[in-house]
Order: sequence, then structure tokens, then C-alpha cells
Amino acid sequence: MASAASAPPATKGSLREDLTCAICCDLFHEPVMLACMHHFCKPCISRYWRTTHGPVTCPQCRREFSCRQFQTNFLVAAMVEKVRATSSHTYIKNLEKQLRESLDNQRLRTEEHVSSIRRGKDTMETIKRLGADLQARVKGEFRALHQILHDEETCILEQLRREQEEELEKVQRHLEALKLAIKELGENVTVLQQASAVTESMVLAELPQLRPCATVNAAPEFDANAFSSKYMAPLQYITWRKMFQSLKPGPSPLSFDVDTAHPSIKVSSDKTVAVECDTMTRHVDNDKRFLQCVNILATQGFHSGRHYWEVDVGSKPKWDLGVASESIDRHARIKLSPETGFWALRLRNRNEYSVCTQPCTRLQLGSCPERIGVFLDCEDRRVSFYDADDMSLLYSFANGPRGKVFPFFSPCISGNSQEPQPIKLLHYPPVALSG
Ligand SMILES: [Zn+2]
Ligand SMILES: [Zn+2]
Repeated sequence: MASAASAPPATKGSLREDLTCAICCDLFHEPVMLACMHHFCKPCISRYWRTTHGPVTCPQCRREFSCRQFQTNFLVAAMVEKVRATSSHTYIKNLEKQLRESLDNQRLRTEEHVSSIRRGKDTMETIKRLGADLQARVKGEFRALHQILHDEETCILEQLRREQEEELEKVQRHLEALKLAIKELGENVTVLQQASAVTESMVLAELPQLRPCATVNAAPEFDANAFSSKYMAPLQYITWRKMFQSLKPGPSPLSFDVDTAHPSIKVSSDKTVAVECDTMTRHVDNDKRFLQCVNILATQGFHSGRHYWEVDVGSKPKWDLGVASESIDRHARIKLSPETGFWALRLRNRNEYSVCTQPCTRLQLGSCPERIGVFLDCEDRRVSFYDADDMSLLYSFANGPRGKVFPFFSPCISGNSQEPQPIKLLHYPPVALSG
């Protein structure tokens, strides 16, 4: 009701009409107001009054005035200027240009948002797919662990069942032997009773013939302690130790390859401990040996599968470790990075950890791990480092090596002020190394 009755909103057209002179039919020039409140251009009303005879009147409402009098209306003049300015060709062109630009801009932003939505949906798909893959992977790993435990449990229970059966059978056999002996003895008793009944009527010439009874061995000894001790053991620990052999990847029992050792590295006789030394060790020159950097590789190289090993770095203030391509230059001084064939982690000054990338990536670790776990997945081309004590991930290279790689270590030169500390290869459970 209210909206139907209300006047249409003022438009630019009606404002322009309001500011139009009734004499020249154009926008006011120097607008002036008569006593009747009507407006005209100052030149128009002056000319009108000059050319008309008789009393002074308003050309619009015909009201008569005693004299030719008007007032300049600055407010209307300002409004006219505004309307004139906004009606100019350049102004309109400019406005149209701005309009077009604004429209283009809005469309562009809309398109950007639409493609952002598309990208976002793609990302969600990727996350879901990756999540499902990882879920399957985790389930697979645990299935393998459950299988190991299940097999172990079945094996132990089967052994227990067999041993229990054997013990029962021993007793059962003894009981049967006893029953047989009782039966034979019973038959002899009958014979003897019959014989004694006969003696009442006649003289017994000789003792009746008795069956020789089988001798029954002593009751088998059941040693409850021996029977149960195997199963009263710390079964979880024993199984856990056994599980190491079934883990895939299980910890690789690495050994240092002395032929690769820089002459400043001394290696223990079991090839699991490497330490820097002041004097150059006697060595045979070969292509495998590092001659510039204080590096050493493991004997075991990998080009397929998944492998894990652990390295004890103790509280050494500096070290480098990781994997190195077989093809790395061993006679030059090179910066470690995947580009030069090294995927490595580095420690300097006791607590400055970094990833050997170009430029190097600093790592902020909450603690100083003493045992580092290295995981190499040749199929997924991944090299990851862990704090082996709690298996927290320190860093993971996703652009891992192609082709054969070797575990790589550098005990570094620690300087004269410190006692050199070794790098040790850890073996779980302890395994004997040949050679
Ligand atoms: Zn006019
Ligand atoms: Zn008037």
C-alpha cells in the first residue's frame, strides 16, 4: 500500500529537469531565484524583463513584482555544475571505462574463485586418495605384524599341546601296563584259589603253574617345573626379540667398508665403529676411497626394497650421515645435497641440525638424539631420518635416489680440544658379522 502510493525515487533525469531554465530550456547559467521561488538563468530573466513591457512578472507563474529583483542561488549553481560535469562526454566515457574495468575485474575474480574451488576440490580428492592409500599401507604393516604374532602364538600353542599329549600318553601307558599286570595277577589268583580248593579233598602234589607276570616299570616322573618353565618365561620379550628377524624392513646389520674410509678414519676390527684420528692411517689407494672429505660408506649397498638401520652418534658435536649414490665423486671436496648424490642430515656445534640441501635447511629439534634411524625406500624414492629412541621423524627426503646407494657417514674432524668420539653401527638383536 505504502509502496504503491509513494513517488518513484528521484533519478538523474528528473534532477536535470529541475535544474533546467524554463526560458532557454537548458541547464541554468548563473541561476537566480525570484521572490516566487522560481529559478532562471540570470541572462535569461534579465533579457526577458528587458524585452517585455508592462509589470515585472515571473515567466512561469505570472506573479507580479514591484521591481526587477532576484537573488543569486549558490546552492543551485553548485548542483548545476555537478550535473553539468557528470553529463560531459569525457566524464561519461571515463565512467563507462571504469564500469567495464570493474565488470572485468569482478568477472576475473569470480573466475579465479571458481578455479580455486576446482583446485580445492582436486586437493580434497588427492587428500582422500592419499589418505586411503596410507590407511591401506598402515593396515598392511599391522596385518604383517599381527600375522607374525599369530604364527608365533600358533607355533607355541602347538608345541604346548604336543608336549602335554606326550606327558599324558606316558602316564596313560603306565596305567595300561598296571591294568594288564592286575589282570594277569588276577588270573594267577584264580589258579591258586582253585588249587587250594582241591587240596581240601586231596593232597596237593605240586604248586600249580602260574603265568609269569610282566614287570611294570616305575611310574613315570612328571616334572611340573620342567613342563611349565618354557611357558612361564617372559613370552612377550622372547617373541619381541624373535620378531626382529621377521620385520620388513628389519634393522640392517651394517658394517663399515674400510676400502672407502678416508685415511683419517680408523675402523674397529668388527667394522661397526668408526672414529677420526690425528694421523693418517696406512691405506691402499683405490677408486672407492674418499680422499678429500672425512667420509666412509657401509659395505652393504641397496638398489631396491626398503631398508632401515640405526647409527649411534652419542654426544658427538658434529657428524653427517645418510645415503650416498654409488656414483658420487670421492676424490673431490663436494657440498652434500641430493644434486651431488647425497641425502644426508648434519650436526654442527652440538645442537645445530640441518638437512643437506642447497642451500641447507635448518632443523629445530627439541632434543639431541643420540641414535639416528635411517629409512631408505628405494621404490618410493624416500630417505627419512628418525630419533631412534622414540622413532619421531626428524626429516624426510621425498626426492630420494635412483639406482644403487650406500649408507654414508662422516665422523668429521672435531678439532684438537675434544676427544674424538666414534660413530657406531647398531645391530638389533646382536648378530655375528662374518669377515
Ligand atoms: Zn535560461
Ligand atoms: Zn514564479
